Order: sequence, then C-alpha cells, then structure tokens
Amino acid sequence: MAPIAVEQPAPVQSAFHEKTPAPTHPGLLQVNRSAQEFGSSASSLVDLPAGAVFAKITTATPAKKAYTSVQTGPDSHIELNSDLVFCNHSCAPTLNFDMHNMEVRVVDNRPLKAGDDLTFFYPSSEWDMDQSFDCNCGAKECRGRISGAKNMTSEALEGYWLNPHIEALLKEQR
Ligand SMILES: [Zn+2]
Repeated sequence: MAPIAVEQPAPVQSAFHEKTPAPTHPGLLQVNRSAQEFGSSASSLVDLPAGAVFAKITTATPAKKAYTSVQTGPDSHIELNSDLVFCNHSCAPTLNFDMHNMEVRVVDNRPLKAGDDLTFFYPSSEWDMDQSFDCNCGAKECRGRISGAKNMTSEALEGYWLNPHIEALLKEQR
C-alpha cells in the first residue's frame, strides 16, 4: 500500500518578518528583522548632522489607514513601500517624517550616528491611529500610550516637530 501523503499547510508568511527582499536604502538604512510581531526595526548606516535630509520619500502610494500607513493630510494616508516602514515610534526620535515635503530628516536637536535606531514620533503625522500601543521606548520623556496626536495634551506634544496637518487639526480641536 502506498503511504498516504500528508499535505503540509504552507507556512503563513508575514510581509515584514519572514521575507528578506533586497534593501531599498542600501548603505543608508539597515533592517533588523525580528520574528516577534512588531519587533523589527531599522538602524542607521550613516552619520548625519541635525536637520539633514536622510531620505526623500519617492515610492509612496495612497492607502487606507493601517498600522503601516503614514498620514499625509487630514484625510489622507500613504504606504511608504520601502524599508522606511521599519522606522518605529520613539518618544525621543532620531528622525522627522515630513509628509508635506515628502522627506525624512534628522531631528533638529541632535545629530544622527551610524548604529542609531531610526525612529520617529508617530503623533507627528498620525492624528488618530489605527492601532494604539503602549510605548516602551525607554526615554525619560516617554509618553506611554500612543494613539495619535488627537488624544494628547499640548504639554505632551510640546517640543516635538509636527506635520502641518497635525498642527491644523490641533488648532481646530482647541
Ligand atoms: Zn515612549
């Protein structure tokens, strides 16, 4: 009797954790993939002065709000479609995502060093996030629960560079 073939289900592949596509920003950004959900990150391969352009956002496409999307206006969101998607949130970020000029810059108050985690302050672009989370960035100024600028006080947002659509929405709210 022929042995019964046992059909193995195909392993479920997560878009961000299992695949290892070619880097979109070689020499600039290194992706640190983790099997853990939301555990992947990006780190810098370069030194840059404060305020310098790190990368232009050239591959974005309009998208629905999702945990990977970035908000570009009161009602508009994009997918980055590049390794920039691995830049996680931090309350002491190294980058600003300027979604009006479509560029990623080093924060204005400190230079970027090779090896630094590439992070940005999600409420600087996100008004009301698809998925909120408890931040454990470890910064002394950590804001704790992150769910978008909509749910933060003026004090909690003070000192952060914010996209113009977030400034406008805050003005409307207050
Ligand atoms: Zn934090």
